[in-house]
Amino acid sequence: MSVAFHGAEFCWMNGEIIETRKALVSAMEPVHLGIFEGIKAYVENDVNSKGRLNIFQWKPHSDRLRRSAAVCGMKIPYTSEELLEATRKTIRANGYDTNVYIQPRIWPRAGEPQDVHVVIPVWTFETLLGKGNPRFSKSRRFMISTWRRIASDALPPQAKTWANYGNSALALREAARLGRDGAIFLDNRGFVSEGTGACIMAVRDGRVMTPPVTASILESVTRETLLKIIPEDLGIPVEVRDIARVELYASDEAFLCGTGGEITPITSIDDLSLGREYPGPLTKRIAEYYTDVVAGKVEKHREWLTPV
Ligand code: PMP
Repeated sequence: MSVAFHGAEFCWMNGEIIETRKALVSAMEPVHLGIFEGIKAYVENDVNSKGRLNIFQWKPHSDRLRRSAAVCGMKIPYTSEELLEATRKTIRANGYDTNVYIQPRIWPRAGEPQDVHVVIPVWTFETLLGKGNPRFSKSRRFMISTWRRIASDALPPQAKTWANYGNSALALREAARLGRDGAIFLDNRGFVSEGTGACIMAVRDGRVMTPPVTASILESVTRETLLKIIPEDLGIPVEVRDIARVELYASDEAFLCGTGGEITPITSIDDLSLGREYPGPLTKRIAEYYTDVVAGKVEKHREWLTPV
């Protein structure tokens, strides 16, 4: 049997490059506390072509992986530099020269908490970014999930554990049953939280707003990046504050932000269309600038890029 990760033949596991189909963890191990990261490497200059790759925001992703491990009482037996080298080796072993998604996974083994499996699978992906990309403008009907986002005093959403994605999977399955493309969670107080695998930002009267970390969200690297570049580089005001459900309905634009979803425009929520134009003008502007940043075209933010 082969396990296909969108064509990645090789991954890195516990210190060596192996065939991905051989990266196995026993069903007898305590996998419910597994953690992971989602990181992207983009082609320099033109994200829709082939060429040199740069990993975007390696350090914050690597730091978050360590924090997730700490929350679960696990120790990662490799330094950030060693994991970076392992990632480079894995990308090279697969011969990739297009955009690559990197998903380091850590699985506890039965026994001591520092006894873990470390696996680095990679695969290529098609970006939503890039000038005139039709994938970006596709219609996306979202709903407010009837499932609440997990509360941080129960299963902390700030740690990237697989267990948290059970909550996301329920919301996604509900959305699919009801013919929607995705779901937005409210937190246990009833304020807007996040998507099933991305944070949310809404635009009202020329201002961008996004929920705070205390609204049961993952401390998203993309959200942090946008919180810096939207006000500082684009001059658009940003508010980090609790958002009521009705404010989302009344917003001019809304989009998800995350490593996987990049900048994903939302057409409607609970069948209420947002704004007059889709994708909205600020969403487009932000996505275009974000594309330049990940492609290394913004000189001052090249420090966020790590060559493969
Ligand atoms: N929230 C959730 C639940 C996620 O799975 C993700 C994706 N990692 C995000 C937010 C966005 O985080 P980031 O920007 O670090 O990818």
